[in-house]
Amino acid sequence: MSAFYYLCSPMSGTTIIELLIKDDFSKDDLVKLLRAEGEEKIMLFQKSADVKEQYIGKKVWLRGLIEFSNICGKDCMYCGIRKSNTKLERYNLTDDEILTAARFAYENRYASIALQSGELESASFTNRIENLLYKIKEISNGELGITLSVGEQEPEVYKKWFDAGAHRYLLRIETTNPDLYRKIHPDNKKHNFQRRYDCLKNLQDIGYQAGTGVMIGLPFQTTEDLANDLLFMRDFDIDMVGMGPYIEHVDTPLIKYADKLLPLKERFELTLKMIALLRIMMKDINMVASTAQQTIDPEGREKSVEIGANIIMPNITPGKYRDDYSLYANKPGSDDDSVSNLEARLALIDTEIVYGKWGDTKHYEKRRKAEAIVYRR
Ligand code: SF4
Repeated sequence: MSAFYYLCSPMSGTTIIELLIKDDFSKDDLVKLLRAEGEEKIMLFQKSADVKEQYIGKKVWLRGLIEFSNICGKDCMYCGIRKSNTKLERYNLTDDEILTAARFAYENRYASIALQSGELESASFTNRIENLLYKIKEISNGELGITLSVGEQEPEVYKKWFDAGAHRYLLRIETTNPDLYRKIHPDNKKHNFQRRYDCLKNLQDIGYQAGTGVMIGLPFQTTEDLANDLLFMRDFDIDMVGMGPYIEHVDTPLIKYADKLLPLKERFELTLKMIALLRIMMKDINMVASTAQQTIDPEGREKSVEIGANIIMPNITPGKYRDDYSLYANKPGSDDDSVSNLEARLALIDTEIVYGKWGDTKHYEKRRKAEAIVYRR
């Protein structure tokens, strides 16, 4: 029996084909599509792969990831580098080490880097990042694109970094359900859902390409929550998204709910569905194929790329530090991230790496025009 017959058959009682003809979805549609299995799931992935090919092409762009410090002032209950985890060895790359990694990315035509660390708010941290941004621009003739992912900051700080050359910022909201947010964070002023939302808005208003994302498969999370997450990203008009499965870390408070979690394989599949649905809804945004997907399935990144993701973040942090940036358990090792390895793996899915180009989103250009953002580059 063909997939088409199965999906159209009155016996099946499904309207998945009707749903997949649409370009946008209601919450009920999304819940239904997130529950798609078997042939229905294959149809969903086929549709999102077609959308990706039509609007983006069979291509990925690189962001060389520099995890420059695992020192964090916060205590998110799911995160392995939370402040209260005393089992972790803390590190902080020197400026020279960061610049060496940035130079490597530039010379190898990655075109962009992403600077990521635990979250600190202080004048010295602000100034350090600002200086690094100027230096990275200097050593790359202004050519290296820079994404920052260093958490919640005051608007003046975001502006200072934007003026120094950062033009993308990734701040994952993790979940758009405030009640669930409260359950996975300590109940104090430092971990406040409204502030996170406001920070994301400030980033957008300043002119960054603003990115966010959620964890998929959290304890207490429902399919309705995930549908709402997708609607949030659409309504917020987000430019970039990094979504990944929640993977529990043994040295975190959330580990006590490990027996309430979906099996890893199901979290993986749910993440693929989230990527596929968002690609259909937001055809021209940038979407990361997360390493967390690769942690569950060795081909996880490629599977994400096939059905919608278009950004890969090879880890270029000096090797001796990588094991200590353990946001979640069993992060993949460094060998997986060599460009030759990536090229070979992507060739298997007929996808090429675009070198030497930022790969900014058409979505951002459109949003920028619509909002008449004064963008200085
Ligand atoms: S999720 Fe980010 S802010 Fe929270 S503890 Fe981990 S590194 Fe710090």
